[in-house]
Amino acid sequence: MDKQAKETKYTYLTTIACPLCENELLVKRFRQVRMRVLRWDPDHHVWYANDLHPVRYFVTVCCWCGYAAGNNRFSDLPAAEKARLKGRTGGLQVTEAVNVERDDPELVAQCFGHAIRLGLIAKVPASVLGSLYLRTAWFCREEGDQAQELDFLRLAYQSYERAYQEEDLPIGPMTRLGLIYLLGELARQIREFEKSSRWFNMAVRLKEDLIAEPALAKLVHEQYQQMRDDYKKYQEENH
Ligand SMILES: [Zn+2]
Repeated sequence: MDKQAKETKYTYLTTIACPLCENELLVKRFRQVRMRVLRWDPDHHVWYANDLHPVRYFVTVCCWCGYAAGNNRFSDLPAAEKARLKGRTGGLQVTEAVNVERDDPELVAQCFGHAIRLGLIAKVPASVLGSLYLRTAWFCREEGDQAQELDFLRLAYQSYERAYQEEDLPIGPMTRLGLIYLLGELARQIREFEKSSRWFNMAVRLKEDLIAEPALAKLVHEQYQQMRDDYKKYQEENH
């Protein structure tokens, strides 16, 4: 593949090694600093100018052995997961360009589906599944598929709820307040208002966390209010 011809003002290509079969893979990466943000959604999804969709590239797939995972942990494959995946990574036919060209939404959907399937086989932590489901929901949002988006938001919520019960905090860059906020916001989006209320209530009581993370504190207060407004509207509509 002509590497230079595929690079743009916003993206570049690099090679990484597959942690399962050790072959080299060509992958596209985004130059975040050059990308102009149009707006942030309250669940941290970002809309970019110039028709840029990095979420389409979230999953990296090995075209040689079929291993797939989110970019945030592709190279970092724990031994126990590696053992569970042995001989079970097939099922997705892709070319060497799979991590470079994701213009076809069908291919993007297949990559997400494959990574989720392997995540279940490998028994990855619930938070890892949550991040795959959440990004699949973002992809559906960018495609304008609201019904599918809602299905994946539900799965993301369930996984993060399990992560809250099972995993030690912080989970990577996600703090205690970050996770509790995300649970409140996802519950709001899937219209589980009682659950949402419980999470936001918990968030506003974490005084020290709120002081330490002022940007997140602002979101907590905004989305707690948004949830109350949504719930009021929902009650009026269903009365
Ligand atoms: Zn591989």
